[in-house]
Amino acid sequence: MNISIAHTHPKTLLNKGTGYLSGYTHSLNPFTGCSFGCAYCYVRQMPVSTFRGQEWGTWVDSKQGAAMLLAKELRRAKAKGPVTIFMSSATDPYQPLEYKEKVTRSLLEAMVCDPPDFLLVQTRSPLVRRDIDLLQRLGERVRVSMTVETDLDEIRRHFSPYAPPIAARLKTLQLLAESGVPAQATIAPVLPSSEAFAHLLRPLVNRICLDDYFMGDGSGGKRTRRLGIEALYTELGLEEWYDSAAWRIVYERLKKVFLEEQIFLNQDGFAP
Ligand code: SF4
Repeated sequence: MNISIAHTHPKTLLNKGTGYLSGYTHSLNPFTGCSFGCAYCYVRQMPVSTFRGQEWGTWVDSKQGAAMLLAKELRRAKAKGPVTIFMSSATDPYQPLEYKEKVTRSLLEAMVCDPPDFLLVQTRSPLVRRDIDLLQRLGERVRVSMTVETDLDEIRRHFSPYAPPIAARLKTLQLLAESGVPAQATIAPVLPSSEAFAHLLRPLVNRICLDDYFMGDGSGGKRTRRLGIEALYTELGLEEWYDSAAWRIVYERLKKVFLEEQIFLNQDGFAP
């Protein structure tokens, strides 16, 4: 797919943590737009996408001068109290453009120099491995949240064909564990998965986050309904998984191999 790329010079980077992210003081997006273009992405419904006039997933703005700006904003924010950062809420900080642009890496470098109290790195990309050296330096102040919505790659391809394969994400979780970087597997949104899923995750993580469209899209599932996601389930003959109780199927399977206190639901799963 052709992605249109632009370079922007933002005046601010840190946004106040509100709504779903109210447990955080700030959110941080190295890019605007996301070339993974997942079919269920709730950002499709937000002004950043709807006012753009271009299909979500086909454009990305790379924020220039980001590290310097962050260093300044971080200094100011830390002078006022504890700083907890969610990176990222409306983009993937390790989407393909990051290979070349290294905006996210530069932000991590700034945070290694002047660490926030906590940083959650939310991604579905194996590129996060490149920055293990920096993540290690943040120690217990960081957690990588790796989205793994299903263990079935044919399901992943149906819902988010431009996102990295599941096997690469699982391998990345293994590398993070071996490197001592705190990490969680984030099954969000819950997609149809197999009985083996929980067993695949067991050796890789001690923390699971589980969320779905109905709990987690910020509108009780209304945003997702407007995206027409249900039709994708119908095409696959898996309508029973488009249900506000479907997360329980996965939860019960996880409970057989994880301790209950290792499984976090909805907002709790993303909390600092
Ligand atoms: S990776 Fe995240 S931000 Fe990017 S399209 Fe998918 S859900 Fe949206």
